[in-house]
Order: sequence, then structure tokens, then C-alpha cells
Amino acid sequence: MAPPPLVRTRPAEVAAVDLAVCDRCGLCLPLCPPEAIHLDFQDLLIDRHTCTGCRKCIAPCPVGALAMVANA
Ligand code: SF4
Ligand code: SF4
Repeated sequence: MAPPPLVRTRPAEVAAVDLAVCDRCGLCLPLCPPEAIHLDFQDLLIDRHTCTGCRKCIAPCPVGALAMVANA
């Protein structure tokens, strides 16, 4: 019998950035395993569809610009 198809589970929380606080230092980008964080024309973008909710980016941000939010 064939195994069931793999499905991606949706995390309850994903990372979000406060752009008023973020200084665009770029430190968090290489910390994200699925590469969900991008610097685009000096705005930090987090792709909530790619974020796995692992939280690895949260604590290292030197200015506390990242937080977990409900994945609504
Ligand atoms: S580490 Fe913090 S301040 Fe630096 S780019 Fe990421 S969110 Fe912005
Ligand atoms: S919580 Fe994990 S997957 Fe989501 S943006 Fe931060 S490091 Fe990337």
C-alpha cells in the first residue's frame, strides 16, 4: 500500500518584525533555517508561509524587533 502523501503542518505562531524598531542589520537572515527572512529595498520581510515557527531568529535580534505572533 502506498504511504499517505506528505502534508506541511501550519505552525500556530510565526515570526513578525516591527519595522519601526528593526535597524536592517541583517543578522537574523542567516539564522533562519528555511530562509523565510528577506531584506528587500531596505525593508525586512518575513514570509509567513515559509516560517516554521522555530523561534531561532527571535532572541539574537539586538534590538528586539522580532516577536512571535499568531499565524492567523
Ligand atoms: S536582527 Fe533584528 S534589527 Fe537586525 S535585521 Fe533582523 S530584525 Fe532587524
Ligand atoms: S521563527 Fe524560525 S523559521 Fe520563522 S523566521 Fe524565525 S528563524 Fe525563520
